[in-house]
Amino acid sequence: MNAPQKYDLLLKGGRVVDPSQSIDGLLDVAIRGDRIEKLAAGIDPALATEVRDVGGLIVTPGLIDLHVHVYQHVTDFGLNPDEAGVHAGATTVVDQGSCGAWTFDGFKTFMVDPAITEVLCFLSVNLTGTLRGSKGGPVAQNPQLIDLDVMQRFIEKYPKIIRGIKGHGEASSWSNYGSVMLQRAREIADRTHLPLYVHTGELWKADELNRPRPETVLPEVLHFAKPGDLLAHCYSNRDDGILGNRAKPSPELLDALASGVHLDLGHGVNFSFDTARRMVDAGLFPYTISTDVQGDFTSHNDDSKLDFSLCGAMSKLMALGMDLNFVVRATTQHPAEVLRMADEIGSLKVGSRADVTVLEDIREPWTFRDRLGGSAVGQSRLLPRLVVRKGIAIKPTNRLLRDVMAREEALA
Ligand SMILES: [Zn+2]
Repeated sequence: MNAPQKYDLLLKGGRVVDPSQSIDGLLDVAIRGDRIEKLAAGIDPALATEVRDVGGLIVTPGLIDLHVHVYQHVTDFGLNPDEAGVHAGATTVVDQGSCGAWTFDGFKTFMVDPAITEVLCFLSVNLTGTLRGSKGGPVAQNPQLIDLDVMQRFIEKYPKIIRGIKGHGEASSWSNYGSVMLQRAREIADRTHLPLYVHTGELWKADELNRPRPETVLPEVLHFAKPGDLLAHCYSNRDDGILGNRAKPSPELLDALASGVHLDLGHGVNFSFDTARRMVDAGLFPYTISTDVQGDFTSHNDDSKLDFSLCGAMSKLMALGMDLNFVVRATTQHPAEVLRMADEIGSLKVGSRADVTVLEDIREPWTFRDRLGGSAVGQSRLLPRLVVRKGIAIKPTNRLLRDVMAREEALA
């Protein structure tokens, strides 16, 4: 007589890396319905309806990308949520500020609801959201298009989707409006008790007559950050950014980090190996690793130039000396805590949601490049081979993983 089938899916023989439980070892993962049912060595495959051999691969909690842009067709730089999500190895993605209160309903109806990926957002402080990339940002991103009462109504109505507030602390906003945009973001974050995610590094067109000296921007921005908030783009090359042109981080930054403000990678187009090395030398590492994946800012609905990804960002930080457990923690346990969802995601604890990412670690020398001429040679490239989303196994297309795929692999 056959044994009764206890499990719907069994991932057999992989190296489980789950920093939330301090686990790094050869274990099987058994799933029933949309929950993790058992984590143990040598689970009998006869007990499972579907068995996937993941020998030689790395099994992690479903990766979380805390910074994406996936309001496709509405913003000109939005990607498809599943291409940025499950098809890039991330079971949860968090859109940072593409939608505001006025545009949230469309985001929910057309992006969040139909996606296989779990799609969450940090709501933009301006009512329209960031409709356009670099072009025309200030048209929408201005103090006239803020209404905190309207925002609060949406936040209270959709607490499961809206997990935080997106604000901007950078030179062009400062030159145009002073600190008022970030001040309003602070106000609504306080009212709703949500974390604030602050973009750093010059983004839009500045008012040249009012341009602040670059090194004065961050200390002012930090006045608005509280413990639990995040500063985005920690390894960006922008001169008004987190490190800027300094050789060493400012005392104000060190104080903020000591108080519990976190750094997020937010890779993006301005990721710089040079800045990263100066930050690493100062002992400053990202708490969370996210991508800021987006379509091209200067054309429309065009992802052909996108050359960074979540697995690529993890691999690049490994090339800079961070280890596998570090980069997995920064894409699972830590973002789950930021989202206040650590009971549900970011872990393979029994009872957690069955969101799992299976990665291949391709061990060979690989030169990673930034867009500024910098590079780093690594020995590892992480590539998703299987994603489990709510218990269902999916083979990711990896279409947007151009920074970790050889041309032949991308075409295969
Ligand atoms: Zn962004």
